[in-house]
Amino acid sequence: MLNVFHWHLTDDQGWRIEIKKYPKLTEIGSKRSATPIPSNRKRLDGTPYEGFYTQEEIKDVVAYAAERFIRVMPEIEMPGHSGAALAAYPELGCTGGPYEVRQRWGIGKDVYCAGNGNVYVFLENVLAEVLDLFPSGFIHIGGDECPKDRWKTCSKCQAMIKQEGLHGEHELQSYFIKTIGEFLAKKNRRLIGWDEILEGGGLPQMPRS
Ligand SMILES: [Zn+2]
Repeated sequence: MLNVFHWHLTDDQGWRIEIKKYPKLTEIGSKRSATPIPSNRKRLDGTPYEGFYTQEEIKDVVAYAAERFIRVMPEIEMPGHSGAALAAYPELGCTGGPYEVRQRWGIGKDVYCAGNGNVYVFLENVLAEVLDLFPSGFIHIGGDECPKDRWKTCSKCQAMIKQEGLHGEHELQSYFIKTIGEFLAKKNRRLIGWDEILEGGGLPQMPRS
């Protein structure tokens, strides 16, 4: 669709949206110390890179787009592609870190700990601020490329699998997505993600919008 601006705001390599409740997301998570060189991705340029959008700037973009009949749909990645958030708040990862904002492209193995209740509280607080900024009925949560390595060896993740009667880490991913989907549904928003959110079972019922 040409009238939807899909705005990817968080990833392993940087957190690009101001969240007032968690200032370290941008103080730490928006900065990385190097970037792969385009002509040779194995090499790093050694140049620090940083930047993020303030909430005021985001409001301006959303309003500018709305005047032109363009809806802005934010993407806040979870449970994978969360390296920048973990660098800022290492207690949200399975190992507790330390983590760094990823300098290389590709997929990081460090993801949000799906067995830690504080992770869900954190993400719901982040999303609450995101929902205030974006009237979009759809909220994109990524959901792709989430390696299960850390969850396999994490006592909290394994305890959650047991407690919820899940069959392994793929169902833990499904549990994670369902929990966030239900939070969004309560706010009358609909979760969308890449096709991998279907791993480990179906999606919760969500309102159409
Ligand atoms: Zn864990």
